[in-house]
Amino acid sequence: MSFVKTYFGLKLSHKVAFAFAFGIVFGCAARFVPTLGSLINPEGFRMLGVIFINLIKMIITPLIFALITSSFLSVKDAGKAGMLAIKAVSIFFAMTFVSVTIGIAATYLIKPGIGANIDVQQIIAQNMSSVSNAAQTKHHSSLLDFLINIIPSNIFQSFYNADFLQVIFFSVIFAAGIRKANQVHESVGLAIKSLEKTMFKVTDICMEVAPFGVFGLIVWLIATQDAALIKSLGVIVLIVYGSMLFMVYGVYAIVMAMLGLNPLKFYKKMLPAQISGYFLSSSSAVLPMSMEIAQKELGISSEKVSFAIPLGAKVNMNGTALNLGVSVIFISQLFGFDFGISQIIKVMILCTLGSIGTAPVPGASIFLLSGILGSVGLPVEAIGIIIAIDRILDMMRTFGNISGDVMAALILDRIDKTLDMSVYKS
Ligand code: ASP
Repeated sequence: MSFVKTYFGLKLSHKVAFAFAFGIVFGCAARFVPTLGSLINPEGFRMLGVIFINLIKMIITPLIFALITSSFLSVKDAGKAGMLAIKAVSIFFAMTFVSVTIGIAATYLIKPGIGANIDVQQIIAQNMSSVSNAAQTKHHSSLLDFLINIIPSNIFQSFYNADFLQVIFFSVIFAAGIRKANQVHESVGLAIKSLEKTMFKVTDICMEVAPFGVFGLIVWLIATQDAALIKSLGVIVLIVYGSMLFMVYGVYAIVMAMLGLNPLKFYKKMLPAQISGYFLSSSSAVLPMSMEIAQKELGISSEKVSFAIPLGAKVNMNGTALNLGVSVIFISQLFGFDFGISQIIKVMILCTLGSIGTAPVPGASIFLLSGILGSVGLPVEAIGIIIAIDRILDMMRTFGNISGDVMAALILDRIDKTLDMSVYKS
């Protein structure tokens, strides 16, 4: 009884940390103690993660709508709002480009695909059904299509499809309309503020399930991953992990030091969101947690938190771009293609732009990989090699995506001198 009481008295971040540790111990026991392993069904544990992700999917669009509309109601000057958007998107692009460059440079230098002892055909054959699914969803949308698609033709459909960019677009216009109709302090404006408050509480309720989701997915992963396959493709896993950690713990640390911020504070406070994102493999599932940490623990202003982080969750995909870049160069080496600088630049641009169109959900960008492979003349079926280890890679790219979103909001807030340093240093 006192254990339950202690658990419910903990902060959410501590509950997640606890679930993480307990999940590892339990998962290892299930994998290595046969009697326990035969008693449990790993799928049941995965369902805990699915339940949590579904809860977040349920609330994420109304939450984003309420947050963005409300934050734009507080921005009086349209020019300021436009400037904020331009600065945020520039930071996203710069970060994504640096990230993909690091991944590609590492793969190019280490050359994991040259002389690799991997039975490419066998792995592709094993994963052929996933390959054909991915190939079917392959789409070649141009940048222009992407931009036009930001404007919804039916806002209810945008809500229904949880299309973040369309909902964000509508929210900004809606806020401008409320302002023009002089309704900021009247019924519509007040209703939006109340909706925002309510959605925060709804989020808090759903977030109570986060530790169970993280726990379930850890147990499922430890119990089911194919260790032999991970070993044979270990070098690519190491490159994605090494480059991503270099980006998050090296490049970000330099940026924070240049901005006069102690990086250790950022890393310590971000850890629960990073761990949750890592195991849930979904940036959107961790969005409420990231926003809470950003505002309450890192001292980032509510304006930046409610605009830059949801937008970043959709647009700022540092980890995805890095993972795509590493995979494409690795496959090119494996199939004996010698990419020159112009082709590498093409890959970098495709990965950067492609990552923007990726949904912040588990396994989303593997489908994009097939499109990029086709665009640079590589065999599309080669995604069968990456699919085999995609979950392990997805966890790390999501870790990178989540870290990047909060990092971008932090940079933005620091540049604008609105960061609450007393909260940041606490
Ligand atoms: N799982 C990633 C995320 O949610 C998206 C991807 O598959 O790259 O950020």
